[in-house]
Amino acid sequence: MTSQLGTVERPLRVAIIGAGPAGFYAAGALLQQKEVSASVDMFDRLPTPHGLVRYGVAPDHQKIKSVAKLYDRTAADPRFRFFGNVDFGKDITHADLHRHYDQILYAVGAQSDRKLNILGEELMGSFSATEFVAWYNGHPDFADLEFDLSGEVAVVVGVGNVAMDVARILARSIDELSATDITDYALEKLAQSQIKDIYVLSRRGPAQVKFTPPEIKEFGELAIADVVVNGDELALDPLSAAEAAASTETQRNVEHLRDYAARALTNKPRRVHFRFLVSPVEILGEDGKVSAVRLEKNRLRADANGNLSAEGTGKFETIPAGLVLRSVGYKGIPLEDVPYDQRNGTIPNEQGRVKDPESGKVIAGEYVVGWAKRGPTGVIGTNKPDAGETVAMMLADLPTTPPAANPNPAAIDALLEERQLNFVTIEGWRILDQLEVESGQAQGKPRVKFTRIQEMLETLHAEIHLKA
Ligand SMILES: Cc1cc2nc3c(=O)[nH]c(=O)nc-3n(C[C@H](O)[C@H](O)[C@H](O)COP(=O)(O)OP(=O)(O)OC[C@H]3O[C@@H](n4cnc5c(N)ncnc54)[C@H](O)[C@@H]3O)c2cc1C
Repeated sequence: MTSQLGTVERPLRVAIIGAGPAGFYAAGALLQQKEVSASVDMFDRLPTPHGLVRYGVAPDHQKIKSVAKLYDRTAADPRFRFFGNVDFGKDITHADLHRHYDQILYAVGAQSDRKLNILGEELMGSFSATEFVAWYNGHPDFADLEFDLSGEVAVVVGVGNVAMDVARILARSIDELSATDITDYALEKLAQSQIKDIYVLSRRGPAQVKFTPPEIKEFGELAIADVVVNGDELALDPLSAAEAAASTETQRNVEHLRDYAARALTNKPRRVHFRFLVSPVEILGEDGKVSAVRLEKNRLRADANGNLSAEGTGKFETIPAGLVLRSVGYKGIPLEDVPYDQRNGTIPNEQGRVKDPESGKVIAGEYVVGWAKRGPTGVIGTNKPDAGETVAMMLADLPTTPPAANPNPAAIDALLEERQLNFVTIEGWRILDQLEVESGQAQGKPRVKFTRIQEMLETLHAEIHLKA
């Protein structure tokens, strides 16, 4: 007789794909609850865990990165295993996981970005903020990108917190950045930066921005950059004024911006200009390189529901610029043999239960969490209740979950070894983590990151031999 799923004799076997905050909150929720006996294997395409906490969160926001300590606590549970450097869809397939796990949880985030769809977007010097962020944070897929910071003007398109991060990194002094874990190659490049003016563009008004008050406030405290805001662009139409009155956050954003508009410039060497009611309509180039951005001025127009959208006025202006960073949203990419919602870039689901988009029916044993579930919105903490919701569904579905054909944990090691995959375990990550922190200490930084997969694997190989 086979034992019941979720008992000590036959624990629920869960595969989590993606080691970002959503995956870790889900693993924590699964392992902390007491009703069901469960064990978790977490896979990530990178050798290192923590997703955007490591490769997204800005290096000058170290406090936020300390949330990783909580994830390390989850990872210390003996029922948890990490398999880094294993790419779902390439190294390991849907069919493999189906054979070895009772439930599969996708926590893959949103790995791509949205385009502006304007002329000139492909010119040299035009990048997504995603690329710039991943480059300065040492994501191995982006470490070889080249950013030309020899021009005096950079344009950042978008007014979310990611746009704030990239504008701030461009505006910071090397002294401010050198005590962070920004990569050495980015620090070197930024030290030679000739950028003096950074324009941050919002297609709507100050009441519709997506950044949060602490992020805009931080610009007022930069060592070598003034903030420039034209008071005329801060005027609120009646609907925007109503939006501001209804939200403390919006009110605070508007107050910070008004404060900047009223401030006298202090002649710092750099300036961050916040511009409102403007849309880039074309990126202009010379010899294949960005040379300017053409903007159209907008006005706000209310739709039938009272939502305010931007509408071009037919008035244009041009800002000469050498670098353009678009920050208009992240987007998920499809996973092999997993349903995908093209429009939202997410895995279609109902409270975390993956749905077949054609039949509309829930697929037994498959779940989703985090940005892959709800799209690229929300802070790290948002992923905790979100993971709680999905895990509640997973536990509730236990009676109807089809058990895996071969749930033996050893079968996974055997499979990965048979495929000659150089996977990184949690012990391997601890070694890398310690080495990074140690080399950081020597330089007065939180850590010095490995940025090449080959180097991480070789280092681990050497360390493990040393210890053997
Ligand atoms: C630039 C930036 C800065 C941010 N700053 C902050 C901040 O300061 N404070 C804050 O609270 N929030 C911040 N956020 C938001 C926060 O990072 C997200 O809410 C959170 O990371 C989403 O978690 P996730 O687990 O869904 O996705 P992710 O963190 O993206 O994790 C997904 C993981 O899945 C892995 N993966 C993807 N595809 C595969 C595959 N095929 N096989 C195996 N593994 C795969 C990835 O390698 C990654 O490790 C920031 C976001 C960005 C983009």
